Amino acid sequence: MKLFHSLIAAALLVSQPTLAHDHSELPEFKQQQLSDNLYMLTGKGGNLALSTGADGLLLIDDDYFDMSDKTRAAVKAISAEPVKFLINTHWHFDHTGGNKMLGETGTIIVAHDNVRQRLLTGGTIEAFNAKISPAAKPALPVVTFADSVSFHWNDETIDVTHPSNSAHTDGDAVVFFKNDNVLHTGDLYFNNIYPFIDASSGGSMLGVIEAVTLLLSDIDDETRVIPGHGALSNKAELVQYRDMLQSVYARVLKLKTSGKTVEQVIAAKPSASFDAQWGGGFLKPDVWVGIIYSAI
Ligand SMILES: [Zn+2]
Repeated sequence: MKLFHSLIAAALLVSQPTLAHDHSELPEFKQQQLSDNLYMLTGKGGNLALSTGADGLLLIDDDYFDMSDKTRAAVKAISAEPVKFLINTHWHFDHTGGNKMLGETGTIIVAHDNVRQRLLTGGTIEAFNAKISPAAKPALPVVTFADSVSFHWNDETIDVTHPSNSAHTDGDAVVFFKNDNVLHTGDLYFNNIYPFIDASSGGSMLGVIEAVTLLLSDIDDETRVIPGHGALSNKAELVQYRDMLQSVYARVLKLKTSGKTVEQVIAAKPSASFDAQWGGGFLKPDVWVGIIYSAI
């Protein structure tokens, strides 16, 4: 395991600056209007979506804690109305960091049952050796669901669905804006970046593949897809991503079930044919293969 641990340590060194609380390093939000009532916002962490209109603001995800002021400002730049609802796509801190700021100002936070549970107790994200403290009360979801919940809001039907009990985590939600034909996938989809799969939060690689396959059956060629991380996308690119995951899953599974250690599997470079397209993100190929070995 020594090699794997040193790879993870190397990955952590790379990611350290993003954990620093130095506001001078924080990026500005980029805003993309997807319809009269719907915006995509990209800051430092996971992508946000904001629904606006006569009923008020509904937000999907809220970046890192240290981005809270910028998240508030980015929303205000679109509308001065308060955020009535926030939906968390899962519990990770690059998607829920603004919960406290929003909860303190009266936003109703909605998430899968397991998101509330994990935020309540805190825990460890083992791949990054990140210890997460229990969340403050205002940061906790107050409305939770097991399978799905729908919002009838701003002349939209907004379907929030838990696609699998074990995918990116055990508490994932995807959000489909039916009239606008826009899907927010949460971290089931990283666009052009190898995806993190959090086995220590109940995630599994097969679960991600199955959940993405399910999503593909619900969308069409016109659907705009907001990934958890990366640029706005579409069905054709999501198909490519699913196919890449399937190929690498099959290769790693074969090596792992033949008794190879994580170091041997990494050395076999099972993702090599995909590294040029997908390996330039925050998870480099060797680290990623180590992570998915643990999620199989
Ligand atoms: Zn995540």
